[in-house]
Amino acid sequence: MGKINCNVIQDILPLYIDDTVSDDTKELVEEHLQNCEICQRVYHETKADLENDMKLSAQTKESRNGANDLKNFSKFLKKRKIKTILVSIAATVICFVAVFTFMNKHITYINYKDAGITIVEDNEDEVTYKTNIRGNYHWNTSLDTETGVGTIHFEQSLWEKYVDSIFYPFDHIHSSLKKDEIKEMYVDKDGTTTTIWEASEEEQKAYLSEEHTEPLG
Ligand SMILES: [Zn+2]
Repeated sequence: MGKINCNVIQDILPLYIDDTVSDDTKELVEEHLQNCEICQRVYHETKADLENDMKLSAQTKESRNGANDLKNFSKFLKKRKIKTILVSIAATVICFVAVFTFMNKHITYINYKDAGITIVEDNEDEVTYKTNIRGNYHWNTSLDTETGVGTIHFEQSLWEKYVDSIFYPFDHIHSSLKKDEIKEMYVDKDGTTTTIWEASEEEQKAYLSEEHTEPLG
């Protein structure tokens, strides 16, 4: 009977260690353990084994959690990095478009002095002048064929002034005014007296039937 008891006791030892047995069973096991060295040894071994198992499973769980945390964190970082890069690219494009638009829309008028106009040649037929404007630029001209008065407005956007100037430093465009078509050429937009060239009074009188004082605006 003792042998059978030992087998029964050893079978329920794990449950006893887990404390999932009834009080009657508990009493029975404790009573037996007090008198049986073999079962005592098995009890201690089983207890140690179970505790070890628990420790191991706890460790595994922990390390698995740790690995998951690391994985999630690197995923988070990766996502964040991609987001940061995308936001940076978008911001750069928006900035560039804004600056480009602003610099092209902002057009300033270049006055006579800044245009650096100098007469290169003044002969019987024509007057040749050159400009000395840094960067790219554009101009509008108008000519009153009745009076022979012409105006020319040099204009430049910020882009032409500061960016194009990297590729086109000062250029000296030579332009000719034909004396049989033009008697005066005004530069300033507001119609002030700055002229590129003005025909002599005699020439003007020969050309004009009446005097004029106002240039074309
Ligand atoms: Zn026993």
